[in-house]
Amino acid sequence: MAGSWKGPAIGIDLGTTYSCVGVWQHDHVEIIVNDQGNRTTPSYVSFTETERLIGDGAKNQAAMNPMNTVFDAKRLIGRKFSDPLVQSDAKYWPFKVVSGPEDKPMIVVSFKGEEKQFYAEEISSMVLIKMKEVAETFLGTEVKNAVITVPAYFNDSQRQATKDAGVISGLNVMRIIIEPTAAAIAYGLNNRANSVGKKNVLIFDFGGGTFDVSVLTIDGSVFDVKATAGDTHLGGEDFDNRMLNHFVQEFKRKNNKDISGNARALRRLRTACERTKRTLSYTVQTMIEIDSLFEGVDFNFNITRAQFEEMNMDLFMKCMETVKKCLIDAKMDKSCVDDVVLIGGSTRIPKVQQLLKDFFNGKEFCQSINPDEAVAFGAAVQASILCGEETQKIQDLVLLDVTPLSLGVDTIGGIMTVVIPRNTTIPQKAEKGLITIVDNQLSMNIKVYEGERSMTEDNNLLGHFTLSGIPPLPRGVGAVTVCFNIDADGILDVSAKVNATGVENKVRIKQEKGRLTAKEIKKMVQEAEKYRLEDMEHKKGAMARNALEYYAYKMRNNVKKMISHLAYGDKLKIDNAIEEAFVWLQNNQLTKKAVVFEVKLKELESVCNPIISKAHDAGFGGP
Ligand code: ADP
Ligand code: MG
Repeated sequence: MAGSWKGPAIGIDLGTTYSCVGVWQHDHVEIIVNDQGNRTTPSYVSFTETERLIGDGAKNQAAMNPMNTVFDAKRLIGRKFSDPLVQSDAKYWPFKVVSGPEDKPMIVVSFKGEEKQFYAEEISSMVLIKMKEVAETFLGTEVKNAVITVPAYFNDSQRQATKDAGVISGLNVMRIIIEPTAAAIAYGLNNRANSVGKKNVLIFDFGGGTFDVSVLTIDGSVFDVKATAGDTHLGGEDFDNRMLNHFVQEFKRKNNKDISGNARALRRLRTACERTKRTLSYTVQTMIEIDSLFEGVDFNFNITRAQFEEMNMDLFMKCMETVKKCLIDAKMDKSCVDDVVLIGGSTRIPKVQQLLKDFFNGKEFCQSINPDEAVAFGAAVQASILCGEETQKIQDLVLLDVTPLSLGVDTIGGIMTVVIPRNTTIPQKAEKGLITIVDNQLSMNIKVYEGERSMTEDNNLLGHFTLSGIPPLPRGVGAVTVCFNIDADGILDVSAKVNATGVENKVRIKQEKGRLTAKEIKKMVQEAEKYRLEDMEHKKGAMARNALEYYAYKMRNNVKKMISHLAYGDKLKIDNAIEEAFVWLQNNQLTKKAVVFEVKLKELESVCNPIISKAHDAGFGGP
């Protein structure tokens, strides 16, 4: 596969709370800053009466527009609405989620005055579009190809849905890789493994809303996930919440005022808490100051790192329990772990690092890359390899992925017959013969499962289909051959044929888990393009408004500077025109069309420019 794509190709870490994009350039990975100058971008999309905002813009106005500001799409992607996890998450989200076609969750928002429903794939595609644009601005060229990462525990349906989100965003998804593998690539661990044989690596990923531990064995270029463990609801946001609650209480104690019912004040304080938490990773004491937080009262409080640690100690300890559990599942003693890799923004917290270090008896971590950038870093390396990047540094990194779970079919008595065993390198194709269960069986129901248990009822049903047209045969005869074809992204196609007739009856797995159809995706691609054009239109409008405002302010200043060179009547003319333009701007707050502002600007220029030129002609030397 290496070299079959043409660059540029980017690596995207599509996170639950923050996303990050990187590209291989000039022999190193560049993590790309967004338009706000940030190296990670909130995975937020917000819909308003007039526009769609993605990233920082969306998160910043979440408090003002909570019901239409969507986040956590990664918690929904590839899941059913009736999934208990979706049900419990939905209770806490300020936006509405309902059941859509085939029990897929749909996010309901009001956009430009209309009710709209979006699939999680679409929301994620919007975040991906943002990351694509961030990269395009940096590279100055269109970007088509990308490697996108997913958590290790993502099943087939969640991986496929993530891939679909990529397609909707207009990207060629070259490969889906798992986050711990990406992080391991980032640290070049397989390189080192090449020289010394097998290596055991523990990846500790502590993000904004989730905590994942994976134990990998790296042997040459094969990354084998031995075990994963984690907590789907533990992360940086919990620390923000604890600090927020603490300060709400403190504010009440000091001022006898309760801000807990005021969404705006809470949001401002929450944002300050997140910033403060980050600061406390570098300093041992800091101060939060917010002017007029509530009923005119300012907020001024100190907080120390020790206080912060005390507040969250139970949560930190919980993480260490998960590490222990993961090692037990991997049947590995902690002394056998060769490398410990920290990823996710929350691993910057010194206490977390210290507890982990103590647990591993003082072992040093791999820490040469920013933890919140390592996944995008690895994805960018992988992307460049797939584009055939010929550079010494990454030449050895031909990454092979493996199937995380065994894949098989249900056979007599509910037994799991494995077709592709776990840890098989992918892409992979394998066949298996199936026998008839009764005499003269005319059709066969083929059920596809993933999992390690011997009975299919204990494993996970991926899909099923019926193959008919079997000629009359006694029971127990090999009548059918199934073929499992798993591509480089770990995505599975199953077909089956009737042996006797020689006719291949290819059947694709029924998309049991509600994957989007090609038709739906096509429609969404078109819609995504429509939204993109609307966004551009909106941006143009904002720029035109800005140009008009800028001109009006500039003229106001010019008039002041050149007052002695202007006839009284001329000055009055300009003053009036500027004043009128400002009133017009005030009355046209909701106007978004660029052309309207352009016409207005022309009108203002036609009044001001001749007068200014006249003053210049008369000898005014200023601007
Ligand atoms: P995701 O879970 O989306 O993959 P990240 O790995 O990017 O998220 O982590 C985001 C979380 O990391 C946020 O809660 C953020 O506040 C936290 N974070 C980022 N930098 C720091 C820091 N210096 N100290 C403590 N927490 C941090
Ligand atoms: Mg992450």
